[in-house]
Amino acid sequence: MNIKLSNGKVLPVEMHKIKIIQQTRLPSADERLKAMEEAGYNTFLLRTRNVFLDMLTDSGTNAMSDNQLGAMMVADDAYAGSESFYKLEDSVRDVFGTQYLLPVHQGRAAEHLLAKVLVKPGDVVPMNYHFTTTKAHFTLAGGTVLEIFTDEALKTDSKEPFKGNIDENKFLDVIKTYGPEHISFVRMEATTNLLGGQPFSMANYKRIKEIAAENKVKFVLDASLISEQAYFIKQREPGYENRSVAEIIRELADLADIVYLSGRKSCAVRGGFIATNTKEIYDLILPWLPVYEGFATYGGMSTKEIEAMAVGVREMTQYSVASSSADMIQYFAERLKERGIPVVTPPGGLACHIDATRFLPDLSPDKYIAGSLAAAVYLVSGARGMERGTVSEQREPDGTEVFSNLELLRLAVPRRTYTISQIDYVVDRVCWLLSHRDLIKGLIFYEEPPILRFFFGKMRAIDNWGANLVEAFKKDFGPDL
Ligand SMILES: *Cc1c(COP(=O)(O)O)cnc(C)c1O
Repeated sequence: MNIKLSNGKVLPVEMHKIKIIQQTRLPSADERLKAMEEAGYNTFLLRTRNVFLDMLTDSGTNAMSDNQLGAMMVADDAYAGSESFYKLEDSVRDVFGTQYLLPVHQGRAAEHLLAKVLVKPGDVVPMNYHFTTTKAHFTLAGGTVLEIFTDEALKTDSKEPFKGNIDENKFLDVIKTYGPEHISFVRMEATTNLLGGQPFSMANYKRIKEIAAENKVKFVLDASLISEQAYFIKQREPGYENRSVAEIIRELADLADIVYLSGRKSCAVRGGFIATNTKEIYDLILPWLPVYEGFATYGGMSTKEIEAMAVGVREMTQYSVASSSADMIQYFAERLKERGIPVVTPPGGLACHIDATRFLPDLSPDKYIAGSLAAAVYLVSGARGMERGTVSEQREPDGTEVFSNLELLRLAVPRRTYTISQIDYVVDRVCWLLSHRDLIKGLIFYEEPPILRFFFGKMRAIDNWGANLVEAFKKDFGPDL
């Protein structure tokens, strides 16, 4: 939670104390070089024993509360009618106000079921921004995803507080062009994960709902990062300063025909669900639940996770929980920015993003700018981020490279997992790297899978720059750090 200090500065003070810890290890610079070379300069292929701070993702990596862990001990392991499910149903009803609950094993399973019953071949699905699994399922069902974000969304250096908004006129155009009957539903993602956790405004959300309702288009809320979304509305939208995170979440949910989420983010568990007040939608999905997920009272989740989720759904509505990673990300981004590092602004809700194109202005896109930066940051710090740029794209069938419109290094901040001193450490190493960026020469593939190459692809450092960077690092810090 951001607390104002006597010198006027703001510090994101942790509103929890550490009760159980997992030992982490800072491998030496030489060890990091060896690990990076074995991983083919791909941070996905590192083993966590060689990772000091894991900033790859906030998915399933958040710290759980004592109440969540305690609840897991009383899980009711029944195939049908488990009491654990009814606790989750109560929590979801209290927080989201929905009557009908369909549990699933994780967020993408909710998307699979929604695609199965609502997306018809030839349909379009307009949304503020896609998520990888969302697009995959809606496309597999024969639909086309239309991203109708505003012009501000892709600007990395921006003051726009709501880069997750839908462009109202583009939505009206979609309705006019395709006709409401060919629109499966309109989807608002809270917050836009792949844009770095950028929120939409309540005003925009209400306007899109209004247009959808006038045209009888269903309105779907992807609530995976809903607590940060509500927190940003409270922080950034006039009129919401005095509304609680819980009230804002409820206001968002009340307007949606369907709410679904991945429990791996805001809820700090592993699981997911679909919730609705519309009996027809529930009845449409229910028969498919046992086919793909499991019986209606567990949906592929372990009962332990269901118990933890019942607690997590309530806890994410607390101000100190909703603000925990958002405030730390703001601190992270501000410390980097004041030292001249090009970060994505305003800071979002799941990670601090560095604009690799501005960090490495002399590297051409065919040398994989963000991939190079991800590898370099690991080499100098042991912190593992994720490339979001051209490596994450796919070549054309004829082999032509598709260059991403953004080259970003994402440094995720899992909720309540790391401390301010660890963030300060990463800031320091990234700043050191900036003054040695000329050493970074780019990457070249030597093993390139035809699809999703960012997961398993292997590259090598052009002109052996990884070793040169580690030599320069050791000159300043010695061999042990
Ligand atoms: C993570 C995520 C999903 C997919 O959920 P999984 O639990 O990873 O399957 C869908 N939508 C958003 C916005 C997400 O962040």
